[in-house]
Amino acid sequence: MVWFSEPTEQTARIRHQCEWCGQKINAGAHYVRYVTDFDGFTIIKLHPECYAAMLKTDGIEEDGFLSGEHTRPGSEEEAIECSKGTT
Ligand SMILES: [Zn+2]
Repeated sequence: MVWFSEPTEQTARIRHQCEWCGQKINAGAHYVRYVTDFDGFTIIKLHPECYAAMLKTDGIEEDGFLSGEHTRPGSEEEAIECSKGTT
């Protein structure tokens, strides 16, 4: 059983890297932060949309995930959808 702390939403004071997609979390951006002991005591920082995607992923609590192995949600497909609807 992997232990997770309660996730909290933070505002980045310096630039971080998202554990889910590997992209930058820019200073001033909101991100979700929590602590896990999955592989030692680790502070995890995620884009809010990446955290939402993680919650929808089956088995994540048992197996964890590899840093940067996922795509940031909404960075491509949804951006195209949005541009279609802005007329
Ligand atoms: Zn991300």
